[in-house]
Amino acid sequence: AIDPNFEETRERVAEHEGHDVWGPVEEPEELGIHGTHVAVDFDICLADGACLEDCPVDVFEWVDSPGHPESERKADPNNESACIDCMLCVDVCPVDAIDVDPS
Ligand code: SF4
Repeated sequence: AIDPNFEETRERVAEHEGHDVWGPVEEPEELGIHGTHVAVDFDICLADGACLEDCPVDVFEWVDSPGHPESERKADPNNESACIDCMLCVDVCPVDAIDVDPS
C-alpha cells in the first residue's frame, strides 16, 4: 500500500502536469508517487481503472508507462485540485495505491 507519510519519507523530485512527483524515480521501472492531496503510488498502481470510473469529479487521467513492471499505464491525479474528498477512489483501489489527505 501507499505510504501515507510520503511527504515526510520521500523527496519532492519533480512536477508533472501541475502536480508534485515524490521520488525515488528511475524510469521506466520506478516512477514514484504522483500528486499530494490526491497521491497515487505509480509503483503500486496496476491500472485497474476503478478510480477513473468512480471519481465524481474526474480527477484521474491515464498516462502511459511503458516498461513499468506493474502496468503499462497509470492513473494520474491530473486534476487533484477538483477533489471533494469523497474517498471513493481510496475505497475502490484493489491495491491501496491511493492516499487522499483532506486539508
Ligand atoms: Fe475523486 Fe473522491 Fe478520490 Fe477525490 S476522493 S479523487 S473526489 S474519488
